[in-house]
Amino acid sequence: MEEMPHIVIVNAEDNEVTRYARSRVLQRAGYVVREAINGATTLALVAAEHPAVVLLDVKLPDINGYEVCRRLKSNPATASTVVLQVSANFVERDDKVRGLEGGADGYLIEPLSPDELIATIRSYVRLQQAEEKLAKANIELHRQATELRRSNEELQQFAYVVSHDLQEPLRAIGVYSELLISQYQQEAGAEVQEYARYITEGIERMRTLMTELLQYARVESQTKSVTLTDCHQIVLQVLEDLQLSIEETGAQITCDPLPAVYADRRRLAQVLRNLLSNALKYHGPQPVRIHISASQKDGEWHFQVHDNGIGIDPQFADRIFVIFQRLHLRHEYPGTGIGLAMCKKIIEQHGGRIWVESRLGEGATFFFTLPMEHTHNA
Ligand code: ADP
Repeated sequence: MEEMPHIVIVNAEDNEVTRYARSRVLQRAGYVVREAINGATTLALVAAEHPAVVLLDVKLPDINGYEVCRRLKSNPATASTVVLQVSANFVERDDKVRGLEGGADGYLIEPLSPDELIATIRSYVRLQQAEEKLAKANIELHRQATELRRSNEELQQFAYVVSHDLQEPLRAIGVYSELLISQYQQEAGAEVQEYARYITEGIERMRTLMTELLQYARVESQTKSVTLTDCHQIVLQVLEDLQLSIEETGAQITCDPLPAVYADRRRLAQVLRNLLSNALKYHGPQPVRIHISASQKDGEWHFQVHDNGIGIDPQFADRIFVIFQRLHLRHEYPGTGIGLAMCKKIIEQHGGRIWVESRLGEGATFFFTLPMEHTHNA
């Protein structure tokens, strides 16, 4: 017989002969057996030894088996032990129902052959061990989720403090340096004036960074108002916001019919605004062409924003979605490196994914998905 180290079975049976025979069978199969002759001993033994299974005679002399089972199952310290009620063959169907409804995990009827008993015990032990593993994994998962939530909140708080509270001293620096510059503008030489310009630019850049960082930090707490949103309307509104850059670049923007989806309208507009303003910004020498479309695939909406701009080396396709990661120097293309990280955060909060397909010099297509359940075609 296979060895089963330290799996404890409580054998609760007042009939000495039956108890003895059952214990021998269990011991021979490798289980550690603890015997109880009444209900009180059974309760104490289970609490002390944490057995995998209790074989519980329904007719114990002091507390009956049903009551013992009820108490075991209602006590969190003993509830995970498998309780198998055991009864003689003259048991009524109602007794069996009563046993199972009282919380027993199974009901065995004597006489049981040794093989039958061991096979039954083994299957319940397997079940109990799997349940225990699952419960432990659940606790660990819960712990990790709590930890993740905590560190996420901490990070958000940090980003909030950095971007919000630092705006005040920055404002002071801005105001006083402007005062200084205007007061000494006449006496100052060209060199000093140039330094002053650097200061002003630095302040402006810091302000933009902080505002965007603050927006990024707030995404989590503010994506709440999910409503049926007409994507076509959003695109029209975003194109209006970007009118100036569209005119400057002379871009030709086309758009297929877009669906209505359940989304946070303001956030989805932010995603499209970021993608479209990037498509306008990272253009090449040729006339700018941008196309927006959406299609259904595997239960999701796949949106595409395609441009014919400078394109992206595929090796950086993931990196550009990480906050502050840029592929260009600031004097080549202005920016903070927050836009795509923000898009990713918003889309993932909506249960979708975002990615880019591109080659250097061959334009870029940004894709994002949104789940289709609760959506309908506009
Ligand atoms: P930003 O535009 O402020 O730098 P983003 O997070 O929006 O920040 O974009 C990150 C980087 O991804 C950009 O610096 C740019 O190198 C690249 N990128 C984004 N959109 C495009 C595009 N349409 N074509 C080419 N490169 C792009």
